[in-house]
Amino acid sequence: MPTTKRDFYEVLGVGRSATADEIKKAYRKLAVQYHPDKNPGNVEAEEKFKEATEAYEVLSDSQKRQKYDQFGHQAFGPGSGGGGFGGGGFQGIDLEEALRTFMGAFGGGGGGGRGSIFDDFFGGGMGGGRSDRGAANRGNDLRFDLEIDFEEAVFGSQRDLTFNVMDECAKCQGSGAAAGSKRETCPQCKGTGQTISSNGFFHVRQACSTCGGTGEILRNPCRECRGSGRVKARRTITVKIPAGVETGSRLRVAGKGESGTRGGPAGDLYVVLHVREHPLFKRRDEDIFVEVPVPFHVAAIGGEIEVPTIHGIAKLKIPAATESGKVFRLRGRGLKGVGTFGNGDQHCVVMVETPERLSGKQRKALEEFSRLLDDDNHPVRQKMNKRASEFYKRRDTLQKNK
Ligand SMILES: [Zn+2]
Ligand SMILES: [Zn+2]
Repeated sequence: MPTTKRDFYEVLGVGRSATADEIKKAYRKLAVQYHPDKNPGNVEAEEKFKEATEAYEVLSDSQKRQKYDQFGHQAFGPGSGGGGFGGGGFQGIDLEEALRTFMGAFGGGGGGGRGSIFDDFFGGGMGGGRSDRGAANRGNDLRFDLEIDFEEAVFGSQRDLTFNVMDECAKCQGSGAAAGSKRETCPQCKGTGQTISSNGFFHVRQACSTCGGTGEILRNPCRECRGSGRVKARRTITVKIPAGVETGSRLRVAGKGESGTRGGPAGDLYVVLHVREHPLFKRRDEDIFVEVPVPFHVAAIGGEIEVPTIHGIAKLKIPAATESGKVFRLRGRGLKGVGTFGNGDQHCVVMVETPERLSGKQRKALEEFSRLLDDDNHPVRQKMNKRASEFYKRRDTLQKNK
């Protein structure tokens, strides 16, 4: 499932260490710019307004912000707390909620309060604050979290991804204008997006209320996209996963993100990979680790055993008197990472396996064998016994002298 959400800090245009005050200021600027009252009928502005408000809602609450810093968007999605996969279908907040939050932050109740915010913002000599006026905008990048098997990471694979995306409206080819009509220069502001009014003492520049500051008007908006030029669409694309990827690897699929507006370029799709663990092969960089059970008689007298590697079964020589935990290296039996030359190694970690379900005959043979053992056969055990007896000797001396 794709996560089409932008990073909240990015949305507000503030750094990760921004203060509460900076966050509020940044939000206010965006919220005022994209407020539905200022951009009637502009679906895109509405989306931007909701996006900014949602980001503000989280980042202005120290508890939620901390959670977000730690877990990202998944901290708030349905089924949050689950694995790193998806974030599925979390559609953000609706307009009603966004407006309530906005009023809560700045309104002070009543429509008059809201009006005064706009006035002092737009009256404050914002200069050329609307540089994106009527311009072509690049579409947003999308992120798709994809879980793949260990085998796919090692050998590469191909996957079809299906996700929702803002796509160019086919009916109006992205123009937002209904057939036979087009965007026109706003007659009110003559395309500048601003109007200048005088209150007697000084001139105040304001965003043009007719065009919402865009400098253009749509007399006849496309019905399909309500004038935005984009529609929600379901898109399926095929991505090639190269051999050697690992968890956290990002694949960039150029131009497969959201469509741009007004002929702007599409954003990119980033596929973030999560590799499932394999029960046998553990990976560290280009090396593979395998825990290898070794029968205890082989561990004692040595021999050759077969060991699985990602390239097939390999033979491994076990020297006599091999202990559990000993690691043998099979050179070049690891994997080749993305952009690395040559294979890593496989590390075989020995685990001596004690035989189970012995038959009577086997048991007898072992009993006979045990009678042939002496202390020198188990030097580690001998060492332990020696240290223990030294300990008790010292204890007894201390107790006698009390
Ligand atoms: Zn359209
Ligand atoms: Zn205008």
